[in-house]
Amino acid sequence: MVTYSGEVSHQWARRRLLADWRAGRVSRETVCDGDFRLLAASRFHGESVGRPCPICGGADLRVVLWIFGESLGKMSSSARSVEEIERFADAGREFTVHNVEVCPDCHWNHLLSAREVGP
Ligand SMILES: [Zn+2]
Repeated sequence: MVTYSGEVSHQWARRRLLADWRAGRVSRETVCDGDFRLLAASRFHGESVGRPCPICGGADLRVVLWIFGESLGKMSSSARSVEEIERFADAGREFTVHNVEVCPDCHWNHLLSAREVGP
């Protein structure tokens, strides 16, 4: 089990962006801008979230765990499995885990939450 010392939800920003998209205030290209690394990570490390993509309705919506932190060295800014994150936490490293929602079909992506790991 990983103990998180803090969590910031980005659900409100996500809802606002989706409302803007539905109202035609932002383009599909703007909301579906997942880059190559994120899309690849969603295929290899992503977990299905069991609900459809809010943009294209595709059934393959995934959540990727993306980690950041100086203590991670060159592993910073990469997607990781829950098991790897547990290992880094057990080793006493301090880092941030971003839960990122990704649709491999239309490239929709959004940060859901950011959590801090560490003492
Ligand atoms: Zn989609």
